[in-house]
Amino acid sequence: MAPESQHVVVIGAGIIGAATALRLVGEGYRVTILDPGEPGGPQAASHGNGAFLSPASIIPMSGPGLWKKVPGYLLDPAGALTIRWRYLPRLMPWLVRFLISGWTAARVERTAAALSALLREAPERHLRQAEAIGRPDLIRQEGLIYAFPDRAAFEADGFSWGLRRKFGVQMQELGAEALHRRVPALSPAYHFGILLTGGGHCTSPGGYVSALVTAACAHGATLRTAVATGFAFEGDRLRAVLTDAGEIPCDAAVIASGVRSKPLARAAGDRIPMESERGYYVEIADPAVGIEIPVMPQDGRMANVMTTGGLRASGQVELASDDAAPNWRRADILLGHLKHTWPGLDRPATDRTARRWQGNRPSTPDGKPVICAARRSDRIIHAFGHGHIGLASAPMTAEIVSALLAGREPPIDITPFAASRFG
Ligand SMILES: Cc1cc2nc3c(=O)[nH]c(=O)nc-3n(C[C@H](O)[C@H](O)[C@H](O)COP(=O)(O)OP(=O)(O)OC[C@H]3O[C@@H](n4cnc5c(N)ncnc54)[C@H](O)[C@@H]3O)c2cc1C
Repeated sequence: MAPESQHVVVIGAGIIGAATALRLVGEGYRVTILDPGEPGGPQAASHGNGAFLSPASIIPMSGPGLWKKVPGYLLDPAGALTIRWRYLPRLMPWLVRFLISGWTAARVERTAAALSALLREAPERHLRQAEAIGRPDLIRQEGLIYAFPDRAAFEADGFSWGLRRKFGVQMQELGAEALHRRVPALSPAYHFGILLTGGGHCTSPGGYVSALVTAACAHGATLRTAVATGFAFEGDRLRAVLTDAGEIPCDAAVIASGVRSKPLARAAGDRIPMESERGYYVEIADPAVGIEIPVMPQDGRMANVMTTGGLRASGQVELASDDAAPNWRRADILLGHLKHTWPGLDRPATDRTARRWQGNRPSTPDGKPVICAARRSDRIIHAFGHGHIGLASAPMTAEIVSALLAGREPPIDITPFAASRFG
């Protein structure tokens, strides 16, 4: 069937749904985008992420020997990764899969290979996408810096950085002097850096999503405020998406509802083990320090970037439930790191004006998204579970989804992203 005669419902207007909807209207499909919230609003992970478009984000969270650290994660309330005790029994099946997925170096390397394909030319793809909607200001490709207390701290993570090199990530080592020449406001406590020359960032993650949806609508898409609740079939054929505002008849649907995709995937025939890796940000509107290039201090494991809202520090991994109340102490940990990283910050003003946010990374245990046709119908496409890399990998995901809908060969091997890997 020609795209013009097909109606596709994209469920979710986060970065994945927005990029997908724009791609599909560009190919001629009639598109309806569903979301109960504002596109790019604070309900979405896409609102509050670290804005990094990093070619280095190919290493999954789970690695060999991680299991030895789990007791520490349970006991250290100030660590970058924490597990809330009361949710432990519910999280256990996911956690076991999570630990197993990174049990050996070979498994981590296979995941890195898959993610490296998904992130291929991510900043360039975003640049093209932002230019296509007339908003090149939203994406910059000026590099990214990973800052370490010293070279020994970098070498201690030699396995991950070695894999990145192996998969073609372009990087330059910066000694203390070169690092501080690039980022003069950075604390002298950092003596070594890695510059990712091809890295990029987004200047307003929420604004970007909103602009993409606006552009999709300008090209004919319709945005509806509704919650998708399931699907209606006629025999094996998808007939409609069910919502809290009635049925929407369609020829195809894309599940791009972030952490809330699990029940929809189930309704489409696939059981996906997905949990929220909860994250936080603090944002300082007028920080009084200039940061030209985004920095990831490796001791705090947080992305520091200037957005249109100010200096944002985004990070933390908190395992609980996606609907558990935020624990704002985690945002305050980020605030503490910010003050340590940027000594020039006006501290009283920082404390007074800091905005805090909490959101849910949609995370599968093996650190790879689910991008494939659903078991129940090949007219339902899964596009969720992007964990830590959903912003960076959105344009490639959109390209894969459009290929699947059109029956074309996807641009990369999508076997690693199959729902069937979970049995
Ligand atoms: C603290 C933090 C830092 C991060 N840093 C980075 C980074 O630097 N770089 C990077 O690439 N990634 C980063 N990420 C990850 C990235 O933000 C996510 O992977 C990405 O935003 C997921 O996008 P999404 O569209 O799948 O989901 P979301 O952005 O969560 O959007 C899902 C949308 O679906 C809607 N929805 C939910 N249920 C339904 C339903 N039933 N019907 C209709 N609509 C529904 C929601 O309202 C929401 O708007 C970070 C995440 C966090 C939390």
